[in-house]
Amino acid sequence: MKTEDRRQKSEVRPKKALGQHFLTDQNIAKKIVDQLSPDVESVVEVGAGTGVLTQFMVNEILDKFYVIEIDRESIEYLQQHYPTLGDHLIQGDFLKADLSQFGKQNMAIIGNFPYNISSQIFFQVLKYKEQVVEVVGMVQKEMAERMAAKEGSKTYGILSVLMQAWYDIDYLFTVHENVFNPPPKVKSAVIKMRRNTVTDLGCDEKLFVTIVKQAFNQRRKTLRNSLRTLLSPTIIENEVFNKRPEQLSVKEFIDLTNLISSSASRDAQ
Ligand code: SAH
Repeated sequence: MKTEDRRQKSEVRPKKALGQHFLTDQNIAKKIVDQLSPDVESVVEVGAGTGVLTQFMVNEILDKFYVIEIDRESIEYLQQHYPTLGDHLIQGDFLKADLSQFGKQNMAIIGNFPYNISSQIFFQVLKYKEQVVEVVGMVQKEMAERMAAKEGSKTYGILSVLMQAWYDIDYLFTVHENVFNPPPKVKSAVIKMRRNTVTDLGCDEKLFVTIVKQAFNQRRKTLRNSLRTLLSPTIIENEVFNKRPEQLSVKEFIDLTNLISSSASRDAQ
Protein backbone atom coordinates (compact mmCIF):
# COMPACT_ATOMS: atom_id res chain seq x y z
CA MET A 1 0.00 0.00 0.00
CA LYS A 2 1.32 3.44 -0.81
CA THR A 3 1.97 5.76 2.09
CA GLU A 4 -0.73 8.11 0.88
CA ASP A 5 -3.38 5.35 1.03
CA ARG A 6 -2.28 4.28 4.47
CA ARG A 7 -2.58 7.82 5.73
CA GLN A 8 -6.14 8.11 4.49
CA LYS A 9 -7.14 4.86 6.17
CA SER A 10 -5.49 5.97 9.36
CA GLU A 11 -7.44 5.79 12.58
CA VAL A 12 -5.56 8.85 13.68
CA ARG A 13 -7.84 11.86 13.82
CA PRO A 14 -6.47 15.35 14.38
CA LYS A 15 -6.60 16.60 17.95
CA LYS A 16 -6.63 20.32 18.35
CA ALA A 17 -5.07 20.40 21.80
CA LEU A 18 -2.03 18.54 20.47
CA GLY A 19 -1.50 20.95 17.59
CA GLN A 20 -1.95 18.18 15.06
CA HIS A 21 -1.70 19.30 11.44
CA PHE A 22 -0.55 16.37 9.35
CA LEU A 23 1.59 17.14 6.33
CA THR A 24 0.17 15.47 3.24
CA ASP A 25 2.75 16.46 0.61
CA GLN A 26 5.40 13.75 0.25
CA ASN A 27 7.78 15.99 -1.67
CA ILE A 28 7.81 18.61 1.04
CA ALA A 29 8.28 15.92 3.68
CA LYS A 30 11.29 14.56 1.79
CA LYS A 31 12.66 18.06 1.31
CA ILE A 32 12.51 18.67 5.07
CA VAL A 33 14.33 15.43 5.90
CA ASP A 34 16.95 16.20 3.23
CA GLN A 35 18.00 19.27 5.23
CA LEU A 36 19.66 17.08 7.88
CA SER A 37 23.43 17.47 7.71
CA PRO A 38 25.62 14.41 7.12
CA ASP A 39 27.61 15.02 10.31
CA VAL A 40 24.76 14.42 12.75
CA GLU A 41 25.19 11.28 14.84
CA SER A 42 21.69 10.84 16.18
CA VAL A 43 18.28 12.14 15.20
CA VAL A 44 15.23 12.68 17.41
CA GLU A 45 11.92 13.32 15.70
CA VAL A 46 9.35 15.29 17.68
CA GLY A 47 5.69 14.41 17.09
CA ALA A 48 5.73 11.94 14.21
CA GLY A 49 1.95 11.73 13.84
CA THR A 50 1.38 9.32 10.97
CA GLY A 51 5.04 9.20 10.06
CA VAL A 52 5.23 11.36 6.95
CA LEU A 53 8.75 12.47 7.91
CA THR A 54 9.57 9.23 9.74
CA GLN A 55 9.28 7.13 6.56
CA PHE A 56 12.32 8.87 5.07
CA MET A 57 14.49 8.32 8.12
CA VAL A 58 13.48 4.96 9.51
CA ASN A 59 15.61 2.84 7.18
CA GLU A 60 18.47 5.26 6.78
CA ILE A 61 19.57 5.98 10.31
CA LEU A 62 17.84 3.41 12.45
CA ASP A 63 20.58 2.84 15.02
CA LYS A 64 20.42 6.36 16.27
CA PHE A 65 16.96 7.43 15.23
CA TYR A 66 14.34 8.07 17.91
CA VAL A 67 10.75 9.23 17.76
CA ILE A 68 8.97 10.96 20.63
CA GLU A 69 5.21 11.25 20.21
CA ILE A 70 2.75 12.16 22.94
CA ASP A 71 -0.45 10.87 21.38
CA ARG A 72 -1.40 7.25 22.07
CA GLU A 73 -3.30 6.75 18.83
CA SER A 74 -0.41 8.06 16.78
CA ILE A 75 1.90 5.73 18.70
CA GLU A 76 -0.27 2.73 17.86
CA TYR A 77 -0.34 3.74 14.22
CA LEU A 78 3.43 4.16 14.12
CA GLN A 79 3.99 0.81 15.88
CA GLN A 80 1.92 -0.91 13.21
CA HIS A 81 3.48 0.80 10.23
CA TYR A 82 7.06 1.14 11.41
CA PRO A 83 7.63 -1.96 13.57
CA THR A 84 11.39 -1.75 13.10
CA LEU A 85 11.41 1.33 15.32
CA GLY A 86 10.86 -0.93 18.35
CA ASP A 87 11.81 0.77 21.57
CA HIS A 88 13.10 3.79 19.66
CA LEU A 89 9.48 4.85 19.41
CA ILE A 90 8.74 6.57 22.68
CA GLN A 91 5.38 7.73 23.94
CA GLY A 92 6.04 10.87 25.91
CA ASP A 93 6.25 14.61 26.13
CA PHE A 94 9.26 16.03 24.29
CA LEU A 95 9.28 18.99 26.67
CA LYS A 96 9.93 16.68 29.61
CA ALA A 97 12.25 14.22 27.88
CA ASP A 98 15.84 13.78 29.00
CA LEU A 99 17.54 14.28 25.64
CA SER A 100 20.95 13.20 26.86
CA GLN A 101 19.80 9.57 26.61
CA PHE A 102 19.67 9.89 22.80
CA GLY A 103 23.27 10.86 22.29
CA LYS A 104 26.10 12.76 23.86
CA GLN A 105 26.89 15.04 20.94
CA ASN A 106 25.96 15.98 17.37
CA MET A 107 22.28 15.27 17.89
CA ALA A 108 19.67 16.66 15.53
CA ILE A 109 16.06 17.44 16.39
CA ILE A 110 13.58 17.30 13.54
CA GLY A 111 9.83 17.64 13.21
CA ASN A 112 6.76 19.30 11.93
CA PHE A 113 6.38 20.77 15.38
CA PRO A 114 3.10 21.24 17.25
CA TYR A 115 2.83 25.02 16.79
CA ASN A 116 1.17 25.68 20.13
CA ILE A 117 4.35 24.61 21.94
CA SER A 118 7.05 25.56 19.45
CA SER A 119 8.70 28.19 21.68
CA GLN A 120 8.83 25.66 24.49
CA ILE A 121 10.42 23.18 22.10
CA PHE A 122 13.17 25.71 21.39
CA PHE A 123 13.72 26.36 25.10
CA GLN A 124 14.04 22.60 25.59
CA VAL A 125 16.66 22.56 22.79
CA LEU A 126 18.56 25.36 24.55
CA LYS A 127 18.66 23.29 27.70
CA TYR A 128 20.51 20.59 25.75
CA LYS A 129 22.62 22.89 23.57
CA GLU A 130 25.76 20.87 24.36
CA GLN A 131 24.24 17.85 22.64
CA VAL A 132 21.96 19.38 20.03
CA VAL A 133 24.03 20.49 17.05
CA GLU A 134 21.12 20.98 14.66
CA VAL A 135 17.38 21.58 14.49
CA VAL A 136 15.35 21.20 11.31
CA GLY A 137 11.75 22.06 11.94
CA MET A 138 8.51 23.30 10.55
CA VAL A 139 6.88 26.05 12.58
CA GLN A 140 4.37 28.82 12.05
CA LYS A 141 5.77 31.26 9.47
CA GLU A 142 5.85 34.20 11.92
CA MET A 143 7.75 32.09 14.43
CA ALA A 144 10.31 31.15 11.77
CA GLU A 145 10.74 34.81 10.85
CA ARG A 146 11.14 35.77 14.49
CA MET A 147 13.78 33.11 15.08
CA ALA A 148 15.87 34.24 12.12
CA ALA A 149 15.30 38.01 12.55
CA LYS A 150 18.24 40.34 13.04
CA GLU A 151 18.38 43.47 15.14
CA GLY A 152 16.50 46.41 13.66
CA SER A 153 13.68 44.17 12.49
CA LYS A 154 10.19 44.42 13.94
CA THR A 155 10.03 40.68 14.52
CA TYR A 156 13.34 40.56 16.43
CA GLY A 157 12.57 39.45 19.98
CA ILE A 158 13.35 37.23 22.97
CA LEU A 159 13.65 33.98 21.02
CA SER A 160 15.76 35.60 18.28
CA VAL A 161 18.35 36.79 20.80
CA LEU A 162 18.38 33.77 23.11
CA MET A 163 18.58 31.24 20.25
CA GLN A 164 20.98 33.21 18.06
CA ALA A 165 23.39 33.47 20.98
CA TRP A 166 24.00 29.74 20.48
CA TYR A 167 22.70 28.85 17.00
CA ASP A 168 23.00 30.15 13.43
CA ILE A 169 19.45 30.22 12.12
CA ASP A 170 18.27 30.08 8.52
CA TYR A 171 14.75 30.54 7.21
CA LEU A 172 14.66 27.85 4.50
CA PHE A 173 11.27 27.93 2.78
CA THR A 174 7.60 28.78 3.23
CA VAL A 175 4.92 26.07 3.19
CA HIS A 176 1.34 26.76 2.14
CA GLU A 177 -1.51 25.75 4.47
CA ASN A 178 -3.25 23.54 1.87
CA VAL A 179 -0.62 20.78 2.18
CA PHE A 180 -1.83 19.92 5.68
CA ASN A 181 -4.77 18.00 7.04
CA PRO A 182 -6.52 19.84 8.56
CA PRO A 183 -5.10 23.05 7.04
CA PRO A 184 -3.81 25.34 9.78
CA LYS A 185 -5.06 28.94 9.87
CA VAL A 186 -1.53 30.19 9.44
CA LYS A 187 1.29 29.76 6.95
CA SER A 188 4.22 27.57 7.87
CA ALA A 189 7.94 27.65 7.25
CA VAL A 190 10.91 25.39 7.68
CA ILE A 191 13.95 26.62 9.55
CA LYS A 192 17.34 25.13 10.14
CA MET A 193 19.46 25.93 13.17
CA ARG A 194 23.12 24.98 13.51
CA ARG A 195 25.04 25.26 16.72
CA ASN A 196 27.65 28.03 16.47
CA THR A 197 31.12 27.75 18.01
CA VAL A 198 30.30 29.67 21.18
CA THR A 199 30.96 27.69 24.36
CA ASP A 200 30.65 30.54 26.81
CA LEU A 201 28.81 33.82 26.27
CA GLY A 202 31.40 35.78 28.19
CA CYS A 203 28.86 37.20 30.62
CA ASP A 204 26.60 36.09 33.48
CA GLU A 205 24.29 33.89 31.37
CA LYS A 206 21.41 33.93 33.83
CA LEU A 207 21.45 37.71 33.99
CA PHE A 208 21.67 37.83 30.18
CA VAL A 209 18.39 35.87 29.93
CA THR A 210 16.74 38.09 32.54
CA ILE A 211 17.81 41.25 30.73
CA VAL A 212 16.67 40.06 27.30
CA LYS A 213 13.28 38.98 28.64
CA GLN A 214 12.73 42.09 30.73
CA ALA A 215 13.74 44.42 27.88
CA PHE A 216 11.50 42.81 25.26
CA ASN A 217 8.55 42.44 27.59
CA GLN A 218 8.27 46.21 27.32
CA ARG A 219 9.74 46.53 23.88
CA ARG A 220 8.50 50.03 23.16
CA LYS A 221 10.18 51.51 26.19
CA THR A 222 13.78 52.61 26.31
CA LEU A 223 16.12 50.22 28.10
CA ARG A 224 16.45 52.82 30.84
CA ASN A 225 12.77 52.36 31.64
CA SER A 226 12.36 48.66 31.06
CA LEU A 227 15.55 47.70 32.91
CA ARG A 228 15.29 50.33 35.64
CA THR A 229 15.11 47.79 38.46
CA LEU A 230 18.53 46.44 37.42
CA LEU A 231 20.36 49.74 36.95
CA SER A 232 22.48 51.41 39.56
CA PRO A 233 22.86 55.22 39.66
CA THR A 234 26.43 54.93 38.38
CA ILE A 235 25.36 53.63 34.98
CA ILE A 236 21.77 54.77 34.52
CA GLU A 237 22.77 57.81 32.47
CA ASN A 238 24.82 55.73 30.03
CA GLU A 239 23.72 56.38 26.44
CA VAL A 240 23.05 52.76 25.65
CA PHE A 241 19.94 52.93 27.82
CA ASN A 242 18.36 55.43 25.41
CA LYS A 243 17.98 52.53 22.99
CA ARG A 244 15.12 50.10 22.59
CA PRO A 245 15.70 46.35 22.73
CA GLU A 246 15.24 45.70 19.01
CA GLN A 247 18.24 47.92 18.28
CA LEU A 248 20.70 45.68 20.14
CA SER A 249 22.57 42.79 18.55
CA VAL A 250 23.28 39.63 20.54
CA LYS A 251 26.81 40.92 21.14
CA GLU A 252 25.44 44.23 22.44
CA PHE A 253 23.13 42.39 24.85
CA ILE A 254 26.18 40.54 26.14
CA ASP A 255 28.09 43.81 26.59
CA LEU A 256 25.07 45.30 28.33
CA THR A 257 24.93 42.33 30.69
CA ASN A 258 28.59 42.87 31.58
CA LEU A 259 28.02 46.57 32.12
CA ILE A 260 25.13 45.86 34.49
CA SER A 261 26.87 43.09 36.41
CA SER A 262 30.09 45.04 36.84
CA SER A 263 28.23 48.04 38.21
CA ALA A 264 26.25 45.78 40.53
CA SER A 265 29.43 44.25 41.94
CA ARG A 266 31.04 47.67 42.27
CA ASP A 267 28.03 48.90 44.19
CA ALA A 268 28.19 45.89 46.49
CA GLN A 269 31.76 46.67 47.54
N1 SAH B 1 4.97 15.03 11.85
C1 SAH B 1 3.58 14.80 11.55
C2 SAH B 1 2.64 15.38 12.63
C3 SAH B 1 2.78 16.85 12.92
S1 SAH B 1 1.52 17.44 13.99
C4 SAH B 1 3.23 15.34 10.18
O1 SAH B 1 3.97 16.19 9.67
O2 SAH B 1 2.21 14.95 9.63
C5 SAH B 1 2.39 17.53 15.54
C6 SAH B 1 2.56 16.20 16.24
O3 SAH B 1 3.19 16.45 17.50
C7 SAH B 1 1.28 15.46 16.55
O4 SAH B 1 1.40 14.13 16.12
C8 SAH B 1 1.12 15.55 18.08
O5 SAH B 1 0.48 14.42 18.64
C9 SAH B 1 2.57 15.63 18.51
N2 SAH B 1 2.82 16.29 19.82
C10 SAH B 1 2.11 17.31 20.36
N3 SAH B 1 2.65 17.68 21.54
C11 SAH B 1 3.75 16.87 21.75
C12 SAH B 1 4.73 16.77 22.79
N4 SAH B 1 4.68 17.57 23.85
N5 SAH B 1 5.69 15.82 22.69
C13 SAH B 1 5.74 15.00 21.60
N6 SAH B 1 4.83 15.06 20.58
C14 SAH B 1 3.85 15.98 20.64
